[in-house]
Parts: sequence; C-alpha cells; structure tokens
Amino acid sequence: MVVGCGALGNEALKNLALLGVGHLTLVDFDRVEADNLCKSVLFTAEDAAARRFKVDAAADTLLRLNPDVQVERHYTDAVYDLGLGVFARQDVVIGCVDSRWARYGINRNCMRTGVPWVDGGIGPLEGTARVFRPGENCYACNLGTEGLKELRLRLPCPGIVRRNLAAGKAATSVLSASVIAAVQVQEALKLLCPEAIAEGRVRPLCGSIFHYEGEQLSGRTASFRAWDEDCPCHERWAPDGTLEVDVERTSVEEALALAGRESGETDLTMLLRDDCFVDFVEDRRDGGRYEVMRPGRKVEAFLEAHPALQGAESARFYQNEWKEASKIFPYQKLSLSSLGIPQCDFLRFKGKEKDYCYELRKPL
Ligand SMILES: [Zn+2]
Repeated sequence: MVVGCGALGNEALKNLALLGVGHLTLVDFDRVEADNLCKSVLFTAEDAAARRFKVDAAADTLLRLNPDVQVERHYTDAVYDLGLGVFARQDVVIGCVDSRWARYGINRNCMRTGVPWVDGGIGPLEGTARVFRPGENCYACNLGTEGLKELRLRLPCPGIVRRNLAAGKAATSVLSASVIAAVQVQEALKLLCPEAIAEGRVRPLCGSIFHYEGEQLSGRTASFRAWDEDCPCHERWAPDGTLEVDVERTSVEEALALAGRESGETDLTMLLRDDCFVDFVEDRRDGGRYEVMRPGRKVEAFLEAHPALQGAESARFYQNEWKEASKIFPYQKLSLSSLGIPQCDFLRFKGKEKDYCYELRKPL
C-alpha cells in the first residue's frame, strides 16, 4: 500500500509497477493540480485540467506500465478514514506523506495491525528513508521532545475546539523524490522477502536512517532505532471475530446488538478509535449553541461553513464530545459512519470483564 500519491508516491508506484509488484493499494484524497506535473511521472496535463483524483490518474498510468498489476483505490485520509482491516491486509506500507501527523497516524495503524512500513521524506535537494517494524522500531518512539510537542497540537484535546494547523507544503523536486522512492521500494521488497533477511543475503534499513544530500552529494546511514515498551502506539489489535456491518447503514444500536450477540455480553460500550463524536459546540461569549453531530476532526470545517462562526478564536468555543457509545448514548439511530468509523475498521467494545475487538465486514 502506498499512502500519498504526490511526488514521492508517484516515483514509488512507478517503481513497484515496473518491478511487477502485483497488488497495489493507493491512498490519497487529493486531486491533480498543474503544480504537480513537473514532479509526477504518472500525471498528465489532462488529469490536472479535469482535476482528477490523484489515485485515479496514477492508477491509469500504472495499468499502462504494467497491465498485470491489480490496483485498489482509496480516496481518503489514511490516518482516520481508512479501516484497520485495510491495513491488516497489507504486506508492507510505504508512507509518502509530508507531515509528522500523517506519519504518526500511519505508524499507529501499522503497529496495531502488525504491518511494517517504510517512511520517506524529501526536500528540494535532500531526503530520508526509514523502516519501522512492529517489535523493533517505532516512529513515535523515535520522536524527540520537540516532535512530540508539535504533535500534541494535533492530538484530540477534550473540551476545546481544536483548529488544525495548516500543513505547510514542503518544497520538493522530482530528483530527491526519485532517489528516496527508489530506496523506499528497495526496502519494501526486502520486507516482502523475509527469508532473504533471515539468511543475511540482504540487510534491511530497519534500525537505521538513510540520509541523502544532493547539494554536496553525500549519502549515509545512521543508527535510528527506538522501541519503548510503554509507548501507547504499540498496542496490537487482534480481532476476536467479524461483524457484518456496512458503516453507512448500520446504526449504533444495531452494532451494539451485533457485538452483544457475538460476545454473549448484554451491556457493551463501543469505543471510538482515535477521535470523538461532537454533538454540539457552544459559543462562550453569547452562549449560542450549534448542533454539530459529526466527528471531532470535522468540527473545524463545520465552523468555517457557518458565516456566524467564522473568524472566531478556538478558545471561544466549548465542544461537547463522546469518546464511546453505550446504551445511554443519546443518538442510537445514527450510522457508524456519522461517528467517523470507516468501512472495514476494527471496532472495539468494552465488556464487563474484558474488551472485544471485531473486524467490520461489509455485507456483499
Ligand atoms: Zn512507539
């Protein structure tokens, strides 16, 4: 699976298709723009003019490069909106994203599902590649104090409406993208051949960082390994079974009943994965109350869409949020997708004695 179909993702996907990696999953919610064309081998001017999804534009070219490749498309954000069931099906994930937050989210989902991932990052003339494998090396464990501080600004913060930081677009070029994507794909191939690693025929990058610097031309690897047993990102989610659930149609009430039948418990609490559900926000200045009824991550867009709420400082608002849903959750008829739960996710429930985890399977 390649997350992000920008400059780096284009190069990685092109390599994978030419090498004959037969099953590719593409994830990106963005559309092609004219700016992308000078560093994206898979996109055309027509794609930009039609503002096609990057995933579709990339997939079409990949199929021309290698008609035997099977492509699965996800027009979505891999951190929140891609079910853990999709992650669990991957042999390896290649991260081609440009923010710490996206890396943190990919890492967490990979650790939960036991999938190794290869990160790449690029600037105009330099770049890095790193490999993270559950049990050995973790992106979050490698973040320094500064990195964690910056991330905390993006983590759910109860009670106060949070404004997403505008993600600064890093300047990149096709040169650094092609170097780093080549290293990423090379490392991904090693992970696809564990016996070659075990026999010592190839050495994976896991535990080191590869750094490329183009201006003075140097390439080096340095030790880069951290695995802290207390890190909250390592928890492995192993499904106890499956539930036939279409998140667009199945309500909270129905999901609780299905999980109840499966577990044999009558009083389960559904836990929301990494976000909350917000039913209303309150304007602290005038006490005005606005019905939101969507996941916390979508509150900012909600505020921006309402003229009366525009230009407001976040401290002005109080948001009422739910992290779980049980029998007492007041909106039993809402669909799971309204709560921000994606298709094919792993859904967890708190029982009397123990917790349960179910993989959601969309009925045919
Ligand atoms: Zn960790």
